[in-house]
Amino acid sequence: MKIGGFYSDSISNGEGWRAVLFVSGCPHHCLGCHNPESWDQDYGEPYEENNIYNQIMMNPFLDGLTLSGGEPFLYCKELFSLVKRVKAKGLNIWSYTGFTFEELLRWAERNSDVQAFLKEVDIVVDGRFLIEKMEPKRPFRGSSNQRIIDVQASLMKQETVLYIA
Ligand code: SF4
Repeated sequence: MKIGGFYSDSISNGEGWRAVLFVSGCPHHCLGCHNPESWDQDYGEPYEENNIYNQIMMNPFLDGLTLSGGEPFLYCKELFSLVKRVKAKGLNIWSYTGFTFEELLRWAERNSDVQAFLKEVDIVVDGRFLIEKMEPKRPFRGSSNQRIIDVQASLMKQETVLYIA
């Protein structure tokens, strides 16, 4: 897995003060994507878990880690360990995804890595960016089809629970 970038502090990629990891590789190819270089899975630098983890731990003010891209759910197996370690330190996990939450659930039924990863993610911002539904003023989303979903509440209730409407 390669990464296109890492921010050790951001306030625009989820709630609170966050580290943001941009993975490389995206199959969705949304028209108007702000990060088209991230479509190529060979873009950027090799992912080094300890390096990213140590940078996160150096900022004592962070609320959480956001996974962005690219498409983080291509790398559930690779990201699982980092997510577990970060959560163990009391930080929360947001992940952007071009898949819908319902697509992720169907994928998780036949893929144990996706299933395990979903159990660790607190919030997903789901769905492809649709330029015809662009709404730049909505917090943390680019288009109105994208939802901010409370993953653990949704798994428990077996229905999609929005975190922020
Ligand atoms: S899912 Fe995100 S990274 Fe992928 S093409 Fe769409 S906007 Fe770009």
